[in-house]
Amino acid sequence: NREWHLLSRPVGWPKEEDFALVETDLPTPGEGQVLVRNQYLSVDPYMRGRMSAAKSYVAPYELNQPMQGGAVGEVVASNAEGIAVGDHVLHWLGWREYAVVDAKQAVKVDPGVAPLSTYLGVLGMPGLTAYAGLLRTASFKEGDAVFVSGAAGAVGGQVGQIAKLKGASRVIGSAGSDEKVKLLTEEYGFDAAFNYKDGDVSRQLRAAAPDGVDVYFDNVGGDHLEAAIGSLNRDGRIAVCGMISVYNNTEPAPGPKNLARLIQTRGRIEGFLVGDHYDLQPQFVEEVGPWVREGRLKYRETFVEGIENNLEAFLGVLRGDNTGKMIVTL
Ligand code: NDP
Repeated sequence: NREWHLLSRPVGWPKEEDFALVETDLPTPGEGQVLVRNQYLSVDPYMRGRMSAAKSYVAPYELNQPMQGGAVGEVVASNAEGIAVGDHVLHWLGWREYAVVDAKQAVKVDPGVAPLSTYLGVLGMPGLTAYAGLLRTASFKEGDAVFVSGAAGAVGGQVGQIAKLKGASRVIGSAGSDEKVKLLTEEYGFDAAFNYKDGDVSRQLRAAAPDGVDVYFDNVGGDHLEAAIGSLNRDGRIAVCGMISVYNNTEPAPGPKNLARLIQTRGRIEGFLVGDHYDLQPQFVEEVGPWVREGRLKYRETFVEGIENNLEAFLGVLRGDNTGKMIVTL
């Protein structure tokens, strides 16, 4: 069994020396536990936060211990009632080839219902993030014009398409390459999209949303947030999902200079955590599952092969190598 350990807490961009791929004996499951051979490992932006010691909503990764993350695999030994050898489970002990998981912490998933990788993406945590953040935090309603950043990523791509399927008047997305921008308008059905690397985000957003935006779903922070406040309509709402542009900063990033505009727009800005919204999970699967099956909601996945490439895959998410959900296959 091989598993990734955090050796030291990265400062700025994580470096290879901060991590090690460690060989261990195959673990054996105790009472109420199962041994899982992981097949799909999730790498997500929030993991950067867990590499730091700073107090947050989830405990930091411990040094010299295996890191954690979403994973789907096949049960190869079971000491737990209700889970049999051959079952597939979703759990939180990723970054390793084999995991001993408490049955209570494992959710059975069915490869006959949806491809196993989708339980980490479009039908999993990022999907619920999009659904809850847009519909609950941002109080999306039919006719809203919606702007989403990180729009070719796992969460962002789904935000724009759910908004479209639910009657948005206009959906605008931003992403970091021309290819991604093309995907948004030509495949995901966004009304407009731009490459934020092409120039001033405020100017590009004004051109893409001449009538302003009612909802901004923030995955990026920084200049994107400032641009969105600048284009916010009366009673506009901003759901702060993530701020990936600052995750590797060593100094606090300057805040938006135009917060006072929230007064004249009666605008509302609110952060949210997907973990608080799992009560929406059944409704999310019931509504979004059929859209995915019927091809009305499209999704992409970027696969990286091999446990030895788990770290590179994670760094790739921070760089934007991925289109849609980034997943490591074993
Ligand atoms: P993505 O699949 O969107 O991958 C991250 C993307 O961020 C990259 O592909 C890259 O795309 C983009 N990016 C990287 N650096 C920058 C930058 N400096 N400026 C703009 N874009 C950048 O990841 P997820 O969909 O998993 O996550 C999206 C956001 O949602 C993150 O901020 C994450 O932390 C947050 N999140 C929050 C949750 C919550 O509960 N609040 C739950 C899950 C996710 P590009 O090529 O376009 O630059």
